[in-house]
Amino acid sequence: MTTNLFDERFFSISENLKRIRDEINESAIKSGRKPEDVRLMAVTKTVDVKYINYAITECGIDLIGENKVQEFLSKKDELKLDGVEKHLIGHLQTNKVKKIVPFVDMIQSVDSVKLAKVISDEATKINKTMDVLLEINIGDEGSKTGFDKTAFLESIGEISELPSIRVKGLMTIPPICDAPAEAEKYFALMSDFYNEIKSGNYANFDFNILSMGMSGDYKEAIIHGSNLVRIGSAVFGARIYK
Ligand SMILES: *Cc1c(COP(=O)(O)O)cnc(C)c1O
Repeated sequence: MTTNLFDERFFSISENLKRIRDEINESAIKSGRKPEDVRLMAVTKTVDVKYINYAITECGIDLIGENKVQEFLSKKDELKLDGVEKHLIGHLQTNKVKKIVPFVDMIQSVDSVKLAKVISDEATKINKTMDVLLEINIGDEGSKTGFDKTAFLESIGEISELPSIRVKGLMTIPPICDAPAEAEKYFALMSDFYNEIKSGNYANFDFNILSMGMSGDYKEAIIHGSNLVRIGSAVFGARIYK
């Protein structure tokens, strides 16, 4: 048996990140912004702790996203999270809110008034103001979580009165498209919607994050105004679901 002194995957993670950062910088400049105006999140679902820690300690990753409460909680004690922001990005059931609110810096996947209320209640109990993004179902897909635009506009009054959340912006996952160029129309719609809400005056809204763009379409998302891209497989390689 040979000892695996050098795991090639470490090397590819650092190479992937170099390439992705170059492309983020280029797209930011193309869209008239500075490279540092766009944040890179490493999406760590299904990824082993050792690779996540490598991305953090050796490649400067300072923002990670997990989809599932249980998965994040089971990994977190082994992660080197000093100075790292942790966001929940997957659908959150109300009965799990209490478990996650103390441990994350943001919940990006708030998709109903009911969920927003439960988060605010739990945050109140531990004296925290929970930063959240509201998830928009920009393609109006029946199968998807997220507010459609009409429901969102109807809910905004109620959400803005919740005392222990701070709404930092919007998040979206556009419909699956055959080509990144097709996703552009959704990114453009999102960007207009984001700017419309941002210009409103809502009590607990402090809008500065538009979270859109994943491995296959982050360049297009940035061109249309994204300032936080959530990238998983392009950083860590294809996911293996156990
Ligand atoms: C998995 C996931 C991502 C990352 O997807 P990739 O295509 O691997 O980059 C981004 N956002 C959300 C909400 C996800 O669930």
